[in-house]
Amino acid sequence: MKRVLITGAAGFLGSHLCDRFIAEGCHVIGMDNLITGDMQNIEHLMPLKHFEFHHHDVSNFVHVSGRLDYILHFASPASPIDYLKIPIQTLKVGSLGIHNLLGLAKEKNARLLIASTSEVYGDPLVHPQNEEYWGNVNPVGPRGVYDEAKRFQEAMTMAYHTFHGLETRIVRIFNTYGPRMRLNDGRVLPAFIGQALRGEDLTVFGDGSQTRSFCYVDDLIEGIYRLLLSDYAQPVNIGNPNEITIREFAEEIIKLTGTSQKVIYKDLPKDDPKQRQPDISKAKSLLEWEPKVLRAEGLKITYEYFKSLPEERLFEKEHYSFDDYIKK
Ligand code: UDP
Repeated sequence: MKRVLITGAAGFLGSHLCDRFIAEGCHVIGMDNLITGDMQNIEHLMPLKHFEFHHHDVSNFVHVSGRLDYILHFASPASPIDYLKIPIQTLKVGSLGIHNLLGLAKEKNARLLIASTSEVYGDPLVHPQNEEYWGNVNPVGPRGVYDEAKRFQEAMTMAYHTFHGLETRIVRIFNTYGPRMRLNDGRVLPAFIGQALRGEDLTVFGDGSQTRSFCYVDDLIEGIYRLLLSDYAQPVNIGNPNEITIREFAEEIIKLTGTSQKVIYKDLPKDDPKQRQPDISKAKSLLEWEPKVLRAEGLKITYEYFKSLPEERLFEKEHYSFDDYIKK
């Protein structure tokens, strides 16, 4: 039985990964400091014999007893509002955190996969973004704490691979959506659906001409799983190349939810990338992977999830307001 450590286990992607590895018959050790994670995402796993949860911050020394085959590092704040609220933790988990996990992987002779991001490409000057593009990142802008932490994380991981011969994998994740996204983390999809459910207007930042390409979570998890089992140590983009403007996206959410609210426009946050679309040629050829779930299908499932949450969660206070976010 494979033993797998998943950091950020109570988060959106971490919890789906825990589900996947449990379904594959692994023993899963989930770790999370619960700054942005939510135990409700893994509550269903807690009674299982082959799931254990460790409440721990991986920026501090990480101890796991026994054998480990795989480590998946998914602990990190991951929304622009979070970077502003907890910038130092964001930097620490991508730097001190990865150093601890690389040390653990070396000690246990485990294969380590890190969650990197399309943010390493910054506000990209190459479109669509392929893995050979080095990016256009502002290190001292509001997103710098995340972008640079993830870039450092890639560099550190590659150094352990080349210097120590550690088995490593790097996935560059593009915008992903699905059940268990945090309702009030400021990301565009929960923001729009939350607004529709509360009967508020949908806030489009800027003129809404910026683009994103949204991947449904099940597709992403499949891509990550295949990458982990591959023998490829260079970064691989995983995402859905189906690109859409944020204005069109708001219209889709209005149609999906049947809300009678309208779109209102707010200032564009600083350094908000103008366009984003993954070039997934590498994933296609190396992993024989491509996304399967259509946006209409994925959005419907995600909307049903948000609708099923207790109503009071819809009105939980945002820990950082949109207006503060735009001002920074
Ligand atoms: N966005 C928006 N309204 C919102 C939240 C986000 O128009 O209420 C925009 C945001 O400016 C960005 C896009 O939606 O252009 C995606 O934002 P998100 O925070 O989800 O992710 P990222 O910018 O990291 O791709």
